[in-house]
Amino acid sequence: MAAVRIGVVGCAGRMGRALVSQILDNENAVLSGGTEHHDSPAVGRPLRHPVTGEELDVVVEADANGLFDRSDVVIDFTCPTATLLHADIAQRTGTALVVGTTGFTDDQAQKLRAAGSKIPVVQAANFSLGVNLLLHLTEEVARRLDEDFDIEVLEMHHRHKVDAPSGTALALGEAAARGRGVELARVSDRVRDGITGARKRGHIGFATLRGGNVVGEHTVMFAAENERVELTHKAGDRAIFARGAVTAALWVHGRAPGVYGMADVLGFDG
Ligand code: NAD
Repeated sequence: MAAVRIGVVGCAGRMGRALVSQILDNENAVLSGGTEHHDSPAVGRPLRHPVTGEELDVVVEADANGLFDRSDVVIDFTCPTATLLHADIAQRTGTALVVGTTGFTDDQAQKLRAAGSKIPVVQAANFSLGVNLLLHLTEEVARRLDEDFDIEVLEMHHRHKVDAPSGTALALGEAAARGRGVELARVSDRVRDGITGARKRGHIGFATLRGGNVVGEHTVMFAAENERVELTHKAGDRAIFARGAVTAALWVHGRAPGVYGMADVLGFDG
Protein backbone atom coordinates (compact mmCIF):
# COMPACT_ATOMS: atom_id res chain seq x y z
CA MET A 1 0.00 0.00 0.00
CA ALA A 2 1.30 3.46 -0.92
CA ALA A 3 2.44 5.64 1.97
CA VAL A 4 -0.05 8.32 3.00
CA ARG A 5 1.11 11.84 2.04
CA ILE A 6 0.87 13.97 5.18
CA GLY A 7 1.49 17.74 5.32
CA VAL A 8 2.09 19.83 8.45
CA VAL A 9 0.83 23.42 8.71
CA GLY A 10 2.67 25.39 11.42
CA CYS A 11 5.65 23.04 10.94
CA ALA A 12 8.11 25.21 12.92
CA GLY A 13 5.92 25.35 16.05
CA ARG A 14 6.44 23.20 19.15
CA MET A 15 3.90 20.61 17.98
CA GLY A 16 4.77 21.13 14.30
CA ARG A 17 8.35 19.97 14.91
CA ALA A 18 7.17 16.94 16.92
CA LEU A 19 4.77 16.05 14.06
CA VAL A 20 7.48 16.28 11.39
CA SER A 21 9.64 13.95 13.48
CA GLN A 22 6.84 11.36 13.88
CA ILE A 23 5.95 11.43 10.16
CA LEU A 24 9.59 10.92 9.14
CA ASP A 25 9.79 7.94 11.52
CA ASN A 26 6.60 6.29 10.25
CA GLU A 27 7.02 3.88 7.33
CA ASN A 28 3.33 4.21 6.36
CA ALA A 29 3.60 7.99 5.97
CA VAL A 30 5.56 10.39 3.79
CA LEU A 31 6.01 14.10 4.58
CA SER A 32 4.42 16.09 1.75
CA GLY A 33 5.62 19.47 3.04
CA GLY A 34 5.19 22.13 5.68
CA THR A 35 3.92 25.70 5.98
CA GLU A 36 4.45 28.51 8.46
CA HIS A 37 2.93 31.93 9.13
CA HIS A 38 4.24 34.42 6.55
CA ASP A 39 6.11 36.32 9.33
CA SER A 40 8.01 33.23 10.45
CA PRO A 41 11.78 33.17 9.80
CA ALA A 42 11.35 29.50 8.79
CA VAL A 43 9.55 30.46 5.53
CA GLY A 44 11.64 29.87 2.38
CA ARG A 45 14.18 27.74 4.24
CA PRO A 46 14.66 23.99 4.06
CA LEU A 47 13.01 22.11 6.88
CA ARG A 48 15.47 20.44 9.23
CA HIS A 49 14.99 17.07 10.91
CA PRO A 50 13.88 18.10 14.42
CA VAL A 51 16.12 15.47 16.06
CA THR A 52 19.20 15.09 13.85
CA GLY A 53 19.26 18.66 12.45
CA GLU A 54 19.79 17.20 8.96
CA GLU A 55 18.46 19.38 6.08
CA LEU A 56 15.37 17.82 4.46
CA ASP A 57 14.29 18.07 0.84
CA VAL A 58 11.30 20.24 1.86
CA VAL A 59 11.16 24.06 1.78
CA VAL A 60 8.80 25.73 4.26
CA GLU A 61 6.03 27.60 2.42
CA ALA A 62 3.79 30.49 3.49
CA ASP A 63 0.95 29.67 1.09
CA ALA A 64 -0.86 26.48 2.16
CA ASN A 65 -2.77 25.89 -1.13
CA GLY A 66 0.00 23.87 -2.81
CA LEU A 67 0.53 21.75 0.31
CA PHE A 68 -3.16 20.80 0.48
CA ASP A 69 -3.16 20.00 -3.26
CA ARG A 70 -0.36 17.43 -2.92
CA SER A 71 -1.37 15.91 0.46
CA ASP A 72 -3.80 13.13 1.37
CA VAL A 73 -4.07 14.49 4.91
CA VAL A 74 -2.90 17.74 6.55
CA ILE A 75 -2.25 18.00 10.29
CA ASP A 76 -2.96 21.38 11.89
CA PHE A 77 -1.73 22.41 15.36
CA THR A 78 -1.65 26.19 14.86
CA CYS A 79 -4.19 28.74 16.16
CA PRO A 80 -7.99 29.01 15.64
CA THR A 81 -7.96 31.67 12.88
CA ALA A 82 -5.31 29.79 10.88
CA THR A 83 -7.14 26.47 11.34
CA LEU A 84 -10.36 27.95 9.89
CA LEU A 85 -8.42 29.24 6.90
CA HIS A 86 -6.92 25.77 6.43
CA ALA A 87 -10.37 24.15 6.75
CA ASP A 88 -11.57 26.32 3.81
CA ILE A 89 -8.61 25.23 1.66
CA ALA A 90 -9.12 21.56 2.66
CA GLN A 91 -12.76 21.70 1.51
CA ARG A 92 -11.67 23.12 -1.85
CA THR A 93 -8.98 20.47 -2.41
CA GLY A 94 -10.87 17.57 -0.76
CA THR A 95 -7.99 16.93 1.65
CA ALA A 96 -8.61 15.23 5.01
CA LEU A 97 -7.76 17.34 8.06
CA VAL A 98 -6.49 16.42 11.53
CA VAL A 99 -6.95 19.33 13.96
CA GLY A 100 -5.18 19.61 17.32
CA THR A 101 -5.55 23.39 17.70
CA THR A 102 -7.44 24.44 20.85
CA GLY A 103 -9.03 27.67 22.08
CA PHE A 104 -11.87 27.97 19.52
CA THR A 105 -14.85 30.20 20.33
CA ASP A 106 -18.24 28.47 19.97
CA ASP A 107 -18.71 30.20 16.63
CA GLN A 108 -15.28 29.09 15.35
CA ALA A 109 -15.87 25.52 16.57
CA GLN A 110 -19.17 25.47 14.68
CA LYS A 111 -17.45 26.67 11.46
CA LEU A 112 -14.83 23.92 11.80
CA ARG A 113 -17.49 21.24 12.35
CA ALA A 114 -19.29 22.46 9.21
CA ALA A 115 -16.22 21.44 7.16
CA GLY A 116 -17.12 17.84 8.13
CA SER A 117 -19.98 17.89 5.64
CA LYS A 118 -17.44 17.97 2.77
CA ILE A 119 -14.25 16.34 4.07
CA PRO A 120 -13.24 13.94 6.84
CA VAL A 121 -11.94 15.83 9.90
CA VAL A 122 -10.46 14.36 13.08
CA GLN A 123 -10.57 16.88 15.91
CA ALA A 124 -9.36 16.25 19.44
CA ALA A 125 -8.34 18.50 22.30
CA ASN A 126 -5.76 15.87 23.16
CA PHE A 127 -4.29 13.18 20.92
CA SER A 128 -2.54 11.07 23.57
CA LEU A 129 -3.74 7.52 24.24
CA GLY A 130 -3.55 8.09 28.01
CA VAL A 131 -5.71 11.22 28.01
CA ASN A 132 -8.32 9.55 25.82
CA LEU A 133 -8.45 6.72 28.35
CA LEU A 134 -8.72 9.37 31.10
CA LEU A 135 -11.73 10.93 29.29
CA HIS A 136 -13.39 7.52 29.16
CA LEU A 137 -12.69 6.82 32.86
CA THR A 138 -13.84 10.31 33.93
CA GLU A 139 -17.24 9.82 32.29
CA GLU A 140 -17.56 6.38 33.90
CA VAL A 141 -16.60 7.55 37.42
CA ALA A 142 -18.90 10.60 37.13
CA ARG A 143 -21.76 8.26 36.18
CA ARG A 144 -21.19 6.12 39.27
CA LEU A 145 -20.53 8.80 41.92
CA ASP A 146 -23.43 11.08 42.83
CA GLU A 147 -23.33 14.81 43.67
CA ASP A 148 -21.95 14.10 47.17
CA PHE A 149 -18.70 14.04 45.17
CA ASP A 150 -17.65 17.52 44.01
CA ILE A 151 -15.87 17.41 40.64
CA GLU A 152 -12.84 19.66 40.10
CA VAL A 153 -10.55 19.65 37.05
CA LEU A 154 -7.00 20.87 37.67
CA GLU A 155 -4.49 21.44 34.88
CA MET A 156 -0.92 22.71 34.53
CA HIS A 157 0.93 23.72 31.36
CA HIS A 158 4.10 25.54 30.29
CA ARG A 159 4.34 29.33 30.53
CA HIS A 160 3.78 29.91 26.77
CA LYS A 161 0.27 28.44 26.59
CA VAL A 162 -2.22 31.15 25.51
CA ASP A 163 -5.64 29.62 26.28
CA ALA A 164 -7.13 28.60 29.65
CA PRO A 165 -8.51 26.28 30.86
CA SER A 166 -6.80 23.90 28.43
CA GLY A 167 -8.89 22.25 25.71
CA THR A 168 -8.21 18.95 27.47
CA ALA A 169 -9.47 20.27 30.82
CA LEU A 170 -12.68 21.41 29.12
CA ALA A 171 -13.02 18.03 27.38
CA LEU A 172 -12.61 16.34 30.80
CA GLY A 173 -15.32 18.66 32.18
CA GLU A 174 -17.57 17.67 29.25
CA ALA A 175 -16.90 13.97 29.93
CA ALA A 176 -17.78 14.43 33.63
CA ALA A 177 -20.95 16.36 32.72
CA ARG A 178 -21.96 13.62 30.25
CA GLY A 179 -21.47 11.01 32.98
CA ARG A 180 -23.69 13.07 35.31
CA GLY A 181 -26.27 13.67 32.58
CA VAL A 182 -25.96 17.47 32.82
CA GLU A 183 -24.91 20.25 30.45
CA LEU A 184 -21.43 21.55 31.30
CA ALA A 185 -22.30 25.17 30.43
CA ARG A 186 -24.97 25.17 33.18
CA VAL A 187 -22.75 23.83 35.96
CA SER A 188 -19.20 24.95 35.20
CA ASP A 189 -17.22 27.26 37.51
CA ARG A 190 -14.41 28.46 35.25
CA VAL A 191 -12.97 31.19 37.51
CA ARG A 192 -13.02 31.78 41.28
CA ASP A 193 -11.78 35.01 42.82
CA GLY A 194 -12.68 36.96 45.98
CA ILE A 195 -15.78 36.25 48.06
CA THR A 196 -17.26 33.55 45.87
CA GLY A 197 -19.75 32.08 48.34
CA ALA A 198 -19.86 28.37 49.12
CA ARG A 199 -19.34 25.83 46.37
CA LYS A 200 -22.58 24.89 44.60
CA ARG A 201 -23.61 21.23 44.75
CA GLY A 202 -23.31 19.51 41.38
CA HIS A 203 -21.04 22.15 39.87
CA ILE A 204 -17.85 21.25 37.99
CA GLY A 205 -14.90 23.52 38.85
CA PHE A 206 -11.75 24.32 36.88
CA ALA A 207 -8.36 25.47 38.14
CA THR A 208 -5.41 26.46 35.95
CA LEU A 209 -1.68 26.53 36.72
CA ARG A 210 0.95 27.90 34.31
CA GLY A 211 4.71 27.68 34.58
CA GLY A 212 8.05 26.40 33.34
CA ASN A 213 8.09 23.87 30.53
CA VAL A 214 5.36 21.52 31.78
CA VAL A 215 4.04 19.70 28.68
CA GLY A 216 0.60 19.05 30.20
CA GLU A 217 -0.83 17.63 33.45
CA HIS A 218 -4.51 17.03 34.19
CA THR A 219 -6.26 15.75 37.31
CA VAL A 220 -9.97 15.15 37.75
CA MET A 221 -10.92 15.11 41.44
CA PHE A 222 -14.09 13.65 42.89
CA ALA A 223 -14.08 15.06 46.45
CA ALA A 224 -16.64 13.93 49.05
CA GLU A 225 -16.67 14.13 52.85
CA ASN A 226 -13.68 12.11 54.05
CA GLU A 227 -12.73 10.55 50.75
CA ARG A 228 -11.45 11.64 47.36
CA VAL A 229 -10.92 9.89 44.04
CA GLU A 230 -8.28 11.43 41.74
CA LEU A 231 -7.58 10.51 38.13
CA THR A 232 -4.33 11.99 36.79
CA HIS A 233 -2.45 12.06 33.50
CA LYS A 234 1.02 13.57 33.07
CA ALA A 235 2.48 14.15 29.63
CA GLY A 236 6.28 13.93 29.58
CA ASP A 237 6.88 14.78 25.93
CA ARG A 238 4.96 16.28 22.97
CA ALA A 239 5.78 13.12 21.03
CA ILE A 240 2.71 11.44 22.59
CA PHE A 241 0.35 13.99 20.96
CA ALA A 242 2.23 13.87 17.65
CA ARG A 243 2.14 10.06 17.58
CA GLY A 244 -1.63 10.10 18.19
CA ALA A 245 -2.16 12.74 15.49
CA VAL A 246 -0.18 10.71 12.92
CA THR A 247 -2.19 7.59 13.89
CA ALA A 248 -5.35 9.68 13.32
CA ALA A 249 -4.03 10.90 9.94
CA LEU A 250 -3.39 7.32 8.75
CA TRP A 251 -6.83 6.25 10.05
CA VAL A 252 -8.79 9.12 8.45
CA HIS A 253 -7.26 8.73 4.97
CA GLY A 254 -10.02 7.52 2.63
CA ARG A 255 -12.86 7.88 5.18
CA ALA A 256 -16.25 9.43 4.39
CA PRO A 257 -16.77 13.14 5.24
CA GLY A 258 -17.63 13.76 8.89
CA VAL A 259 -16.16 15.00 12.14
CA TYR A 260 -14.43 12.22 14.03
CA GLY A 261 -12.79 12.13 17.46
CA MET A 262 -9.95 10.12 18.98
CA ALA A 263 -12.52 7.73 20.47
CA ASP A 264 -13.35 6.74 16.86
CA VAL A 265 -9.67 6.40 15.92
CA LEU A 266 -8.89 4.29 19.01
CA GLY A 267 -12.11 2.28 18.80
CA PHE A 268 -13.40 3.42 22.23
CA ASP A 269 -17.17 3.35 22.45
CA GLY A 270 -17.59 6.59 24.34
P1 NAD B 1 3.27 27.06 18.78
O1 NAD B 1 2.95 28.51 18.95
O2 NAD B 1 4.61 26.55 19.18
O3 NAD B 1 3.02 26.62 17.25
C1 NAD B 1 2.00 27.12 16.42
C2 NAD B 1 2.65 27.36 15.07
O4 NAD B 1 1.63 27.70 14.13
C3 NAD B 1 3.63 28.55 15.11
O5 NAD B 1 4.89 28.14 14.59
C4 NAD B 1 2.95 29.59 14.23
O6 NAD B 1 3.87 30.42 13.51
C5 NAD B 1 2.17 28.69 13.28
N1 NAD B 1 1.11 29.40 12.56
C6 NAD B 1 0.26 30.39 13.00
N2 NAD B 1 -0.55 30.81 12.01
C7 NAD B 1 -0.19 30.10 10.91
C8 NAD B 1 -0.64 30.08 9.56
N3 NAD B 1 -1.62 30.90 9.12
N4 NAD B 1 -0.06 29.21 8.69
C9 NAD B 1 0.93 28.37 9.09
N5 NAD B 1 1.41 28.37 10.35
C10 NAD B 1 0.85 29.21 11.25
O7 NAD B 1 2.12 26.30 19.59
P2 NAD B 1 2.07 24.75 20.01
O8 NAD B 1 2.51 24.60 21.43
O9 NAD B 1 2.71 23.90 18.97
O10 NAD B 1 0.48 24.53 20.02
C11 NAD B 1 -0.29 24.77 18.86
C12 NAD B 1 -1.76 24.44 19.16
O11 NAD B 1 -1.90 23.03 19.42
C13 NAD B 1 -2.33 25.15 20.40
O12 NAD B 1 -3.68 25.49 20.14
C14 NAD B 1 -2.24 24.09 21.49
O13 NAD B 1 -3.16 24.28 22.53
C15 NAD B 1 -2.57 22.86 20.68
N6 NAD B 1 -2.11 21.58 21.24
C16 NAD B 1 -2.97 20.53 21.12
C17 NAD B 1 -2.60 19.28 21.55
C18 NAD B 1 -3.55 18.12 21.28
O14 NAD B 1 -3.19 16.96 21.58
N7 NAD B 1 -4.72 18.39 20.69
C19 NAD B 1 -1.35 19.07 22.14
C20 NAD B 1 -0.47 20.16 22.26
C21 NAD B 1 -0.86 21.41 21.79
